[in-house]
Amino acid sequence: MSEPLKHKGRPVPYIAAWSGETVQQPPLIATGEGVAYAGPTPGRGSDGVLWQLWGLKPGAGEPLWKQVHGPRQRRAMRKFLCQVCGGPADRNEQGWLWLLEDDRAEGAKWPNGHMTVHPPVCLRCAPLAARLCPHLRRRGAVPVRIGDVILDGVYGQRYYTAPPGLGLLEGEQDVFLMGNWRTKWVVGGQLAASLSKCAVLDQAEVGIETPAARAAVRR
Ligand SMILES: [Zn+2]
Repeated sequence: MSEPLKHKGRPVPYIAAWSGETVQQPPLIATGEGVAYAGPTPGRGSDGVLWQLWGLKPGAGEPLWKQVHGPRQRRAMRKFLCQVCGGPADRNEQGWLWLLEDDRAEGAKWPNGHMTVHPPVCLRCAPLAARLCPHLRRRGAVPVRIGDVILDGVYGQRYYTAPPGLGLLEGEQDVFLMGNWRTKWVVGGQLAASLSKCAVLDQAEVGIETPAARAAVRR
């Protein structure tokens, strides 16, 4: 069983960046193949994506609670690791355990077809993830079993070509589909997964407090 790193006694999620880990982005240039790093720096990964380059020093400095460390996020997505402790995520015959923002109002099909950049969780860390992740805390976390996961998206920064001499223009930050031509113009930060064969669970099944229950405790 893996243990999350701690800072001043508080567990720090595996995918959180630390202040000692900086983004090392070389200058960008436009090429016939899309955006690229200038100079003798690593280019696209085997997946065809130009990934943002990060220092790797987990535990160095202060945790940056709201900033995701790209390479650890991608490792967790590819290997189905818990986003909190970095150990194996929980899986049973219904699939992997995921915590999603509560968007059940979208309809009965939700979250089938939904895309997420948040890696799965293990059973032990599920209640902790619901408390630690800002987006889950705000909206409420719903545990879901996911039978089919396809890593087919890149969350990143889009660039556009500018008139000669002006370099590149920063566009939107969004999720782009792998293999789409637009993705050649993106510096990737995180992997996104499309979810299907989903079964929504009861929050109590994995020991998660609902926002209503939290409010009741505060009163
Ligand atoms: Zn865990």
